[in-house]
Order: sequence, then C-alpha cells, then structure tokens
Amino acid sequence: MEILESALYWRKKGIAVIPIRFRDKKPDGSLLPRDEKGKPVWEPFQKRLPTENEIKTWFPSRLRNMAIITGWRGLVVLDFDNAAAFSQWRVWTTRKGGFTRYASESTYQVRTARGIHVYVRLPHTELNRKFDGIDIKAAGGYVLAPPSIHPTGIQYQAVDEKAQIILVDALSDILPAKLLEKHTELPEDVVILPGRAQVPQPSDDLWETVNRGPDPERALVDQIREKFDILSFFPNAEKTSGNGRWYRSMCPFHQDNHPSFWIDRARQICGCFAACTPKPLDVINLYARLNGISNVESIFSLSRLL
Ligand SMILES: [Zn+2]
Repeated sequence: MEILESALYWRKKGIAVIPIRFRDKKPDGSLLPRDEKGKPVWEPFQKRLPTENEIKTWFPSRLRNMAIITGWRGLVVLDFDNAAAFSQWRVWTTRKGGFTRYASESTYQVRTARGIHVYVRLPHTELNRKFDGIDIKAAGGYVLAPPSIHPTGIQYQAVDEKAQIILVDALSDILPAKLLEKHTELPEDVVILPGRAQVPQPSDDLWETVNRGPDPERALVDQIREKFDILSFFPNAEKTSGNGRWYRSMCPFHQDNHPSFWIDRARQICGCFAACTPKPLDVINLYARLNGISNVESIFSLSRLL
C-alpha cells in the first residue's frame, strides 16, 4: 500500500496516525497542529483521529514516514528488537497452543529494520513495559508503520497486509504471565501489600502458623478479598470522606497530574475518573491490570500470598 492509502486505511479502522520525517523517527513538526505556545504537538492524536484532510496534506508523496499511535483504544505493539527474541517467543506461543498460538500466528505484524512488530488490541489502555528483547509499546507511544523507511534505509513491511489486529483479554494471552509479573515495574504510588515483599515465613509462634495458608473449605476469591485491603495498594491515597470510606490517589494507568483514581474502601473497589477502567476493579482485577495478566492468573498469584 502507498503511504496515503495506508494512512486512510488505518483511519477507517479507528487507529490514529501521525506524520514522521522521511527516513527518521521523529514527528514532522512542520505538518502538525500547534499548541498555544506555537509548539508543534502530536499528542492530540492520542485522543482523536486525524481528519481525512489532515491525512491528505500530510502524505501527498512517498517522501515521508508515518507512525501509528499506541495505547489509545487499547492498541499495543510488541516490539521484538531482534530475530532471536521473536523466534523464542514463537516457540513459546506454539508450545502453549490454543488461542495464544492462533493470535501469534494471525494478528497483524510488521517487519522492521532489525526485528518485528506484533500488533494486538486490549479492552483497556495498557502500561508500557520493557523486557529483554521485547518492548511493549502502549500508553503514550507510537511505532513507525509501513511503508516508512528506517534511517538505515530498510523499509517497514507488513507480513500480511490483510491480517487483522486480534483482540486479547490480557497481555498474558500472548506473553508468559510469570514474565509479566516478574518484570512489571509498578507505577509510582502503588505497592502490593501484603505482597511479594511479604511472602509468609514460617513463624516461631506455633499457634499462629495453624491459621496460615488457603482454607480449602472456603472460596479462594473470598479469602483473597479478605486478606488484601485494596487501599493498601495506594499508600499515598488521601481520604476524601469523613467516614473513611472514600479515598483518592494518582491513577496507575495514565499520566495523572491530579489524583483521579478513586478507592471505595467499603466495597473494596477502585477506578479512574479518566476512563482508564471501563469497569470498577476489585483487588483481583487490580492486581491483574497492574501486571498485564488475566483474572484467573491473578487469583493464582494472590492465593500464593495468602
Ligand atoms: Zn487513569
């Protein structure tokens, strides 16, 4: 596809693109809208699609690069920066089988200068994460898209132009949950308590140890909800109601300038006023979202800490 055709195609799919300088990775300031101070800005396209007219002025010829905005509308790109990291991942997805294998084989992918980009969509905005050889591009980022040309002269090429971007429930549908949990750097203002830092140790007090560990008679979910106070994830939260029920904290899921994350201690749920959380999260959902894992995996992980 030519660059103009390609830009219009993504727009039609509800995905925002921006103009990038030819054989470069930086936004083309001469084409972008300007803020009050006259500075060119690409960030507005994290929240809106460019118009058809904007696209037509941006891409009249091929001598320009194009980037796709990640994060918005749940778009996530796994950026494998070398062939070895990509093949290791494919060996893992093949062994895992099922939906993981299907998604890794069928979702839209792009050959980059040195590696490969794998596109997926999630039902919410994801956090950026970095692993050995894999960069997860989500909130606040962008990736160069075909037919852009890398500074080295190599052209970005879709593996299959017609492939769709597959919707997954959690990153752990396409990456090992253990890897995600191990490498997740929690956003500022969030801790997991009592959590990884406080795995129960055998105690000298024999009477105390009797009650440790999950109780097979009771539903695991109830035990988790009882053990983890949702407020303990947000040590810097501020009380906003006299009765100690409502709290506010910085949202871990977007660049928050004033606390927009609410916590309801009475119902043990939380959420973001800026729409990061389509539904309120309980402690299991919260732990899952922070780590990029599914709710089932979250139950497994939290139950190990009971
Ligand atoms: Zn938020």
